[in-house]
Amino acid sequence: MSQDTLLTSKSSDSSSLAHGLSLQQTFVFINILARLKNDIFLVQPSSFGNEDCAPSVLPPSILAFTSDALGIDEGMVESLWLAYKEEIWGWPASEPTDEEEKLFHEHGWKRGLTSLVLYPPTHFCDNPACGRQSPLKKATSRQVVVYTLARGVLPAYEIKLYCPNCFTTYFPDFSVLKGIRTYYAIDEIPGYIQVGAHQFIEKRLVTLWITMMLVAWVSGTNCSRIYDLALSQVDNELFEAGGWQFGCVLTTNHIWDAFTLYTLLDYHRRRNTRLVLPHTGLQKDRMTMAMEARNEEVIQRGFEETLGHEDIQVVVTDGLAIGHPRCREPHCTIPLNSNQDRFCPTHAFRINECAVVGCNHHVRSGYKTCDNSEHIEMEDLHTARGQAAFTLRNRLNRHRTAHPHDIVAGDSNGDHWVSEDAIQEDDEWTQLRGRRKQRAHFSRAHTHNEQTLVFPCGLIASRATFYEAEAVSNVLVFVEKAYSVPHARKPHHLIYDSNCDAAQQVAANEDWSWFDDIGMFVDVFHFKNKHDASHTFCQENCNPADCPHLMDGDKWYFNTSVAEQMNVWLGGYLAIVREMLPVKYNFFLNEMIRLHNHITLQKLEDGGHNVRVLPPRGPLPSYNRRRI
Ligand SMILES: [Zn+2]
Ligand SMILES: [Zn+2]
Ligand SMILES: [Zn+2]
Ligand SMILES: [Zn+2]
Ligand SMILES: [Zn+2]
Repeated sequence: MSQDTLLTSKSSDSSSLAHGLSLQQTFVFINILARLKNDIFLVQPSSFGNEDCAPSVLPPSILAFTSDALGIDEGMVESLWLAYKEEIWGWPASEPTDEEEKLFHEHGWKRGLTSLVLYPPTHFCDNPACGRQSPLKKATSRQVVVYTLARGVLPAYEIKLYCPNCFTTYFPDFSVLKGIRTYYAIDEIPGYIQVGAHQFIEKRLVTLWITMMLVAWVSGTNCSRIYDLALSQVDNELFEAGGWQFGCVLTTNHIWDAFTLYTLLDYHRRRNTRLVLPHTGLQKDRMTMAMEARNEEVIQRGFEETLGHEDIQVVVTDGLAIGHPRCREPHCTIPLNSNQDRFCPTHAFRINECAVVGCNHHVRSGYKTCDNSEHIEMEDLHTARGQAAFTLRNRLNRHRTAHPHDIVAGDSNGDHWVSEDAIQEDDEWTQLRGRRKQRAHFSRAHTHNEQTLVFPCGLIASRATFYEAEAVSNVLVFVEKAYSVPHARKPHHLIYDSNCDAAQQVAANEDWSWFDDIGMFVDVFHFKNKHDASHTFCQENCNPADCPHLMDGDKWYFNTSVAEQMNVWLGGYLAIVREMLPVKYNFFLNEMIRLHNHITLQKLEDGGHNVRVLPPRGPLPSYNRRRI
């Protein structure tokens, strides 16, 4: 029923207006009681079993609250309730106004009533194996805070319902049985996502953060700062006086947990499945297995948006210098225990070896070098450099980091702070007077680069982390693997800056026969400027002009610079991902790419330009290479 009909249908008989309530009081009456429906239902006897039916009796606390809030006596509240309860029961609870919020604060909080109460979606046990028919009455409530987009931080209650029959506990977002958490959401992500024992985040806010990460490279730390500075509108003293004493500051961990949980829930929503997580253990570990499973799926199946993409004639591969901390041991891919470690658990013993490359003497206690005087001097120099203010700026410049991931200098909030170590070069060269240059590993190592495969339309088809320097053979393995997933369609042309080396390797070795029918060219710009005109193999094999299929007159048919733009976009995450351990690193980048692909596809389709089918370009040239 609309607001109009409610007011007009009643105003002719014994209406609220006739009871002496103003129009505004009438709205307040309807709105606050509509918000308290769950609380009203919960205290009814379990014989009152119909959630769709309004009970006749209001609980004493709600009666007293409504009476105080409207300044009318309880008897009048009761008779108004009896007159309007059916309409109110069907009334969609709207966002409370500032005025209503104030009434809850002044008259509700002390009675355990808030404008927002988070309940499970139903008062009944929905375990099919249970069979209990009557509503659940065993409830526990807990004070929580809810971070919202429009109304800032709100004090609220979380209500858990317990089924004594099958021992299931129903939380607002999920049910728990035998230590297993099953999220309710199948076709919709819950409106408020729980990220801590006392913290919920409104879904709209999480999508705002994810969008900020996607289009503006905003880090988790900066998301939390933006919220605290601009949106939280929080009055700490007020909260504490009301009993909410666990603080309202949003942390970086809350942001990342919200990102992860939302991404996992959205993943299951797309598949019509339910997210299942362990209920025990730490919040930070709870989602690890689910993240790993998703990462593995991307490896096995690629990015779903690009599956079946018909615009497959050309794909561009490129490396970009972003990475995550890794073990110092060459070729080791075992994950680190902590992003501050230099070695993985297996190679942890090497922490006692001198950091100078080629020296394996035992370190002095508390230092990273042995007692060799040169090595001591190198470490002293390293320490002095690290303390110099200009170094930080230099190194950030060198990493082309236009957007540090924390706007507050020197603050170490959460797990994302720029430690001096974090921006150190992985390899440090030192030349002592009159000596040859020597290399040392004082800081943590990072993986070498991300390799991407990008279609000229801007869709990212695949990515992989390279632990060592980008070797041509690794790139070939990566490309072949990326196109060996189910449904992948083999490209006709591969554009890669080092294709002259790659094509030579392919020509020389039967192992690379997968590439025999693929054209391998270098980008026009690179061909003209970077490839030696005297290099015969290159001139004969890598010149894009030799393939009319790729040319439109004397112009490049495919815009390979779009691929370059994609890599610039992806490279923008350098400062955000540099401290992440591999599971989170892959999960985060995979989701950013998935969302970016989604937007690219949308844009291409909205533009009425069907990129998936290109005009016929004549028969493909044959690339059956002669082995050399
Ligand atoms: Zn049950
Ligand atoms: Zn290792
Ligand atoms: Zn040494
Ligand atoms: Zn395309
Ligand atoms: Zn060349």
